[in-house]
Amino acid sequence: MDGFCATLRLPPLQLGSMLLRRRAEFPVECISWSDFQHCPACTHKVSGISLRHWRYAWSLQCEVCGSELSPVRRDPATHVHLPTRLRTRAKEGAKWLRLANRHRDRHAGRRMDLTLQASGVLAPELRHGALFSQNRIDRFKALAAINLGMTRPLLAVALLMKNDPTVERKLRAAFPHRRKLVDRLASLAGKLRILSVWSGDNLKGQLKRHPAYISASPQPEYLAAAKLAIIQLGANADRSELLKYAESILQTARQRSVDIQ
Ligand SMILES: [Zn+2]
Repeated sequence: MDGFCATLRLPPLQLGSMLLRRRAEFPVECISWSDFQHCPACTHKVSGISLRHWRYAWSLQCEVCGSELSPVRRDPATHVHLPTRLRTRAKEGAKWLRLANRHRDRHAGRRMDLTLQASGVLAPELRHGALFSQNRIDRFKALAAINLGMTRPLLAVALLMKNDPTVERKLRAAFPHRRKLVDRLASLAGKLRILSVWSGDNLKGQLKRHPAYISASPQPEYLAAAKLAIIQLGANADRSELLKYAESILQTARQRSVDIQ
């Protein structure tokens, strides 16, 4: 190192401040080994320039001019619309990653690593390397997964399980030592399924069979009663039993003017 400083005629501290600091102890690889993105505006001004912060997985904007960074190769998702919610979640995920790495927070790093592993099982495009993908959508999805993994991990996976019956099987195969966690997720997904029936497309069918619930749209008190019924009887209880029980909760609450929310 000293010899290198002498060759470059730079003091060690100054050279150190110019180097990329890879944290071997941090579970998530945050620095690309090669250029994977660049700032089109800065590259246009100074040909061949390659700035250090462009290598970071969390860098989405150029720190020099503020432009959005672009993949160095042709982005296969160039013409795909990037949903605002995905963009917002990806920015939040990038922030989580940057802070955890800066503070050497290994606990957060392990959680992010597990999130990325789980994401890779559920979505092949998010397998290893998605944080540096040339496909902008895949990269944003990986960063958004980190955000959800740090804020609402169970809900995020349960929502996936609710919509895709194969997710539970994939998770059980990939994480056999996490049986209790997957059981909890399956239970939560079941409850979400029932709640979506109450508030979604199938509501009219339920109302025909249960005239006591005739209403233009599900009121918050109905949803609260449904939640209570699910908690009391369990997500796997017979749907008509759940409806009857929720009805009795509603009637009791109305008689006593109790706020059940
Ligand atoms: Zn720039």
